[in-house]
Formats: sequence, C-alpha cells, structure tokens
Amino acid sequence: MSINLTTPEAQIRENRLSSITGYKGSIKDLATQAGGCSLKSGERGFTQTTACSLGCAQGQLVLIKDAAVVGHSAIGCGSDTIQSNINNRRGQFSRELEYTNINYINTNMTEEATVFGGAAKLREGIREAYRRFNPKVIFVTTSCVSGIIGENISGILEGLAEEIPVPLVPVHCEGFRSKLWASGFDAAFHAILTYIVKPAEKKNPNLINIINFSGIGRKEVVRLLGRLGLVPQFLVQFTTVDQLSKISEAAATLSFCGTLGSYLASGLEEHFGVPYIKSLQPHGIAGINSWLRELGKVLGREEEVEKLIEEETAAIASELEELREKLNGKRVVIGMGPSFSQNYTRLLQELALEVVWAASWHFDQRHDYGEIPATILDLAKNEKDIPACVSELQVHEINNLLRQLKPDLFVCRHPGMAIWSAKLGIPTIFINDEYQSFGYQGLINFGNRVADTLANPTFVQYLASKIKLPYTNWWLEQDAFTFLGEAPPKKKERITKAVV
Ligand code: SF4
Repeated sequence: MSINLTTPEAQIRENRLSSITGYKGSIKDLATQAGGCSLKSGERGFTQTTACSLGCAQGQLVLIKDAAVVGHSAIGCGSDTIQSNINNRRGQFSRELEYTNINYINTNMTEEATVFGGAAKLREGIREAYRRFNPKVIFVTTSCVSGIIGENISGILEGLAEEIPVPLVPVHCEGFRSKLWASGFDAAFHAILTYIVKPAEKKNPNLINIINFSGIGRKEVVRLLGRLGLVPQFLVQFTTVDQLSKISEAAATLSFCGTLGSYLASGLEEHFGVPYIKSLQPHGIAGINSWLRELGKVLGREEEVEKLIEEETAAIASELEELREKLNGKRVVIGMGPSFSQNYTRLLQELALEVVWAASWHFDQRHDYGEIPATILDLAKNEKDIPACVSELQVHEINNLLRQLKPDLFVCRHPGMAIWSAKLGIPTIFINDEYQSFGYQGLINFGNRVADTLANPTFVQYLASKIKLPYTNWWLEQDAFTFLGEAPPKKKERITKAVV
C-alpha cells in the first residue's frame, strides 16, 4: 500500500513520489525519464523565496467549517492565514454564508520557547481555541521551530485528551521536511484520513467526492453531474467535520488537480474502498471527456456519458471554432503547479494557441496509486515536443525566461508570479478559480478571457514603462537556468550580488 495510515505523518513527496523541484528540458523527456525512474532533481546554487508545506496544510484545514487550527510556530509562519481568511470570505460570499473569520490560533513561539520548549504555550493555545471556537476537532500544525527542537506534540495532545473533549489531531508539516509545498496537502489529508474519516455504514451510489480548492465555480459541476443523476460533494474546504467523517460513503472520487487530490483520493480508495477516477483533469474538452468517461466506466454508465459528451460538445462547437480562428498561433508561456501546468498545456492548444514553454513548480514522477501522471503521458503522445522546466516558483528564472521568449501571453496560477510578468509588459492571466476552464462552457469562457486579455495590453505596457526590475542586466543576459546544476556553486555570496 502506498498510503500508510499507521504512521503519525505522511511520507514527503520526494520519497513517496520521487518528486523533483529542478529541471530543464522538454515534456517528452520528462515523461520518458519519469517512466525510466532516472530523473533526478537539479540543485540550485541560488534561490529566491518560495512557499512551504505548512501554508498548504493550514490552507486546507482552516477552511473546514467547524474545525479549529492551532499553529505551533513562530508568528511569521502564520502569515499565510491572512490569505486563507480572504479565501474564506470569498467562499462564504459564493455560498451566501454568513461572514466569519477562520478559527486559527498561533502559539507565537519565541526565542524562549525555542530554547526551553513550547509545551506550555501549546497547551494554552489549544485551551483557548476550544474556549473561543467550540470546534468539533482541533488540528495542531507543526513548524520548523517545533520540529527542530523536537517538541513532543503527540505527548502534549495525549496529556490534554481528558480535558478537551474533541479530537486533538497533530499535523506534521514542518517546512524544512520537504522542498515541495504540496507535501503540506498530504500532511493535512493524512490527518483527515487518520483521525476523521470513518468506514462507511452504507454506500450512496449517486454521491461523488470532488477534491478541489475553494470551489467558487462549482455550479457547472453540479449541473453536469446532475445530468447523470449524480450529486457532487466538494472537499475539503467548507465541509463540516461530520461530512468529512462520511466521505467513505461516496461511489467514487474525482479530483480537479492531480497534485492536490493524489493522497486523499488514493487513501480513500486503498483504505475505504472508494474508487479514485484516474484520468486527465476536467480542464478543456479532452480533459472533461476523459474525466466523465472514466467515471462512467467505474459506475457502469458509459452510454449515458457518451450521450452527454456528444450533446455538450455540439453545443459549443461553433463558438469554439470562432475562438480558435481568433487565437490561432498566439504564443503562450505557462507557469503553474504540475497538474495545472500539464492540463493547461493541453487546453491552450485546444484553443489553437502555441505553448512555447511549460513551467511547473515541481514535478511528481508518479501519483500515489503508482502510475505516471496521465496528463504528462497524454502530452508526450503529441508529435510536437514542448520545452519545459521545473522551477520551484523561482522568480529570477521565470523573469529571465519571459524576457527572452517574449510571449504574447503568460498564464499562471500564483499571484506572486503574475505580477512579475505584468511588470515585464506581458499580458498575463492569473487562474485563481480552479473552475476557470472547467468542461465545455468553461473552455469557451476562458477562451474569451484570453481574447480580451490579448486585445488590450495597454495596462501592462504602461506598467512596464514605469518600473525598474530589481535584476541586473548581467543576470537578464544569462541563460535562465545558469544556477540549476548538479551541485551548488561554492561562492554563493558573489552570485547573490550579481543577480539582484
Ligand atoms: S514552517 Fe518553516 S519554512 Fe514554513 S514558514 Fe515556518 S519557518 Fe518558514
């Protein structure tokens, strides 16, 4: 079994999925090397800041409606929760819920707690979380500081078990454990699978788990699956603890993102008998067709699915053709997490755009069910190969690359990256909502957004004319992957000065 629920923590992605954070080459080469198990991560001699797994774990858990999270860390590690609260408000707005803040307490580990231990602060934080939020479960997220000093989190939680009458759940997501922030998703889902999900008392043949992020644009999923008589259940943000405990009752699990869904969906399949639909993700036509067909196979509903696909495809055919003519040959660079990067590389080509470079922030050589991601294998089948890199959200690499490639458009999924391409004067689309290009109508909506963005680049051009980049001319004339090699250079200080 690949998902081991007898251990207190999820194994990190580097060890579990042979994931990498440094690479330059092409899509076909990535797929070939992943198949041959020969791919090794390149090391950088210079890096800028990136994200950490604690933020990803907390980002999922604080949006479970009646849970609370106690972050046992320095206060700065809790800064991501500001964004989580924004996501919370957006999600509440889209669901017409009353506005509330997330249930989060940070123990504010200081120098004293680092030297003498933070057990007292953690106990105080848990008591305060219970008093203030009256939650159904309290998750305790770990951090670099609590990990480095070897804080006995499990022992502290066991000691409070009689006093606090709700499950106290450790979530091991110390930033230093993994270079992949996506390991934080796995840490959160490991905690949910281990402490929250219960074996199904009865199965619901029409209930489908959908693993997604904030689920803002979920109405189209409800409509499409509703045509098959199926009811989607969106996980894990905005669920309750009680709902989560019963997700084993579903007939199948679909995921919007192979990176996000791998651990939870595979864990549900291995330990609770809920089939995971292993397909492309539902962005664009090939993606949604694959998603629905694999679901149809598992549920024995192939004929209904084929009819649905035929009708939905016909409904957008003429609009899609018009868009393809309008966008034909425009050059695009992509920068996203691996699953979105691979799925958008495919769907942008469905809109007749030319993908000139596909960057992803990491690359999983396989998913938790043991196979190479279907998305990269699908892209590798195409005649045309596409240059690609694995870039760990390194702004200096992407900035340099964009200046040299001069694409018509940059499509990304992280706001911290979007601002840099805009400063370079490159029209940029930031995919905040994961449903942006969901299914048939979503592809048309997204295509129209691309057309609008390309039609009016005035704002980014004005921005570029007023902004001086922090990078030296020397760096901008180098190959974008100068610092990506087998081993770090010896004199890091000199390199740092030369780049910025
Ligand atoms: S857990 Fe570690 S890497 Fe993550 S924010 Fe805190 S100190 Fe930084």
